[in-house]
Amino acid sequence: MTDTKGKVVAVNGNMISVAFDGNVSLNEVGYVTVGGKSLKSEVIRIRGGKAQLQVYEMTKGISTGDEVTFTGDLLSVELGPGLLGQVFDGLQNPLPQLAEKAGYFLERGIYLEALPGEKVWEFSPIANPGDTVRRGDVLGSVPEGPFTHKIMVPFGMYGTYKVKSIKHFGEYNVHDEIAVLTDEKGKDIDITMSFQWPVKRAVDCYAERLKPEETMVTKVRLIDTFFPVAKGGTYCIPGPFGAGKTVLQHTTSRNADVDVVIVAACGERAGEVVEILKEFPELTDPRTGRSLMERTIIICNTSSMPVAAREASVYTGVTLAEYYRQMGLHVLLLADSTSRWAQALREMSGRLEEIPGEEAFPAYLESYIAAFYERAGVVRLSDGSIGSVTIGGTVSPAGGNFEEPVTQATLKVVGSFHGLSRERSDARKYPAINPYDSWSKYTSVIRNDWVDYARSCLFRGAEVGQMMKVVGEEGTSLEDFILYLKSEFLDAVYLQQNSFDEVDAAADVERQTYVFKKLLSVLGADFALDSKDDARAYFNQLRQKFIDWNYSAWMGGDFKKNEAGIDSLYASKKGSLTAAARALLKDGE
Ligand code: ADP
Ligand code: MG
Repeated sequence: MTDTKGKVVAVNGNMISVAFDGNVSLNEVGYVTVGGKSLKSEVIRIRGGKAQLQVYEMTKGISTGDEVTFTGDLLSVELGPGLLGQVFDGLQNPLPQLAEKAGYFLERGIYLEALPGEKVWEFSPIANPGDTVRRGDVLGSVPEGPFTHKIMVPFGMYGTYKVKSIKHFGEYNVHDEIAVLTDEKGKDIDITMSFQWPVKRAVDCYAERLKPEETMVTKVRLIDTFFPVAKGGTYCIPGPFGAGKTVLQHTTSRNADVDVVIVAACGERAGEVVEILKEFPELTDPRTGRSLMERTIIICNTSSMPVAAREASVYTGVTLAEYYRQMGLHVLLLADSTSRWAQALREMSGRLEEIPGEEAFPAYLESYIAAFYERAGVVRLSDGSIGSVTIGGTVSPAGGNFEEPVTQATLKVVGSFHGLSRERSDARKYPAINPYDSWSKYTSVIRNDWVDYARSCLFRGAEVGQMMKVVGEEGTSLEDFILYLKSEFLDAVYLQQNSFDEVDAAADVERQTYVFKKLLSVLGADFALDSKDDARAYFNQLRQKFIDWNYSAWMGGDFKKNEAGIDSLYASKKGSLTAAARALLKDGE
């Protein structure tokens, strides 16, 4: 706590201008006192002896002359065991407890401890007295849910330290001293299991950043096969309202092969946050059969919080993600929707009377978005373990127009783009990721040449489909018509996937590979079909059989029965591979 005090000289929506004496720094937290309450604020600009602060609460009642106390601390989160399973607001207040204290959308100025202070953890020491340690080094561990939570030297303790003492195995809470470290000047520092880290600064105590290479399997066929995401990579899901962004994120939270999932929900609608709070605790973890919340953290804003809190949410989310990455875990951060965050930036920029960029977004929008996604990554830690943070952000462009600044700025930095299309969601083709304009720089779970072959069928068939709209079916050759049917078939049985069916919702790599091979045998075959009607009827049958197959449990009785059905149908029209397809499938043996 510094002694710097100030007085409010102007109020403009959620921004206050404060005249101050002393030192104030950017992103420092200040509290404005109004009606006996202290409201949390953050310094977003300092100019000419005045600081502009965004207030994280409703500013009703604040007037000129109100006192502001500066803390000297940057906007930070509390890190330590007990984060998993919690639901926080953007300022890391645990929401259920806040609701108890303040009533859901009511009282301002109540801030609660993020970590359960009374809870005891079973601490096992790892470091020994006399060891030399640095920031991020592991001192001990506690079990947290399904994981080993590493207790580390606080990330803000630069320099080297000697372990003077460390507690034995036993039960401690997050405020108990578990070690004493001595710095280079001989000063002792008490260490507990929790510490603070500023949300806008990337956690950087790892040995090395690695290239994201391993695929983060989502069990969504369309994503893993055609538009994969890498662990430690970034992706963006833009889509108009109702196109299925949120459903896709929920499916991904359940099925992605990561350890920890963090959802930063900047609700599109007020009701959406309530939905998340209701739905998430009911989701089961397919890996353990227990509640998904055990390895999830949700950050969401209540409607009592102004737009500025959305900004805090995404930074709080990514900082918690980086913290768990430091334990050698794989973390997925889902931000829904980053457009709401960008709108918050736009609003504050307007109040600061900055020179507006495109669509009135601030000129620094692009660099802010880039800096956020850059916090994703795979890292090798000082103990040799590997951890990752993958970031998936949804964007909700007005009218579904991807040419707008937030989508464009995001596209420039992410490694994979899953564009949702209104046309596909209207046709109930879910997930509504548009296969024609989405892309990925990461590695598919399926061989490249196989994917290329299928993609080429899809594209050429779609071209025929376009042409047919002009020249009609009569003007299309049987050969082209079959190509068109094949591409529709691929779309229906592989790209589309029902996230509400227990089996179809999640296809692992083994299953995707198996099914894809069968799919290729259809795409790459010549069939004895003598008319368009014959072809249409045939592909209809094949499609239905394939969908039934997708819905049957892996390698179970129905699975085998349906597969045999597909095979006999295939044989009934003398399906045989073209030379090119035969070569392709052969060296896959
Ligand atoms: P958004 O977040 O883009 O506004 P939602 O994710 O809320 O859209 O989806 C809107 C509706 O579309 C859902 O309530 C659901 O009925 C339907 N839907 C979306 N994705 C799927 C899916 N994968 N399978 C089946 N229905 C879906
Ligand atoms: Mg949504």
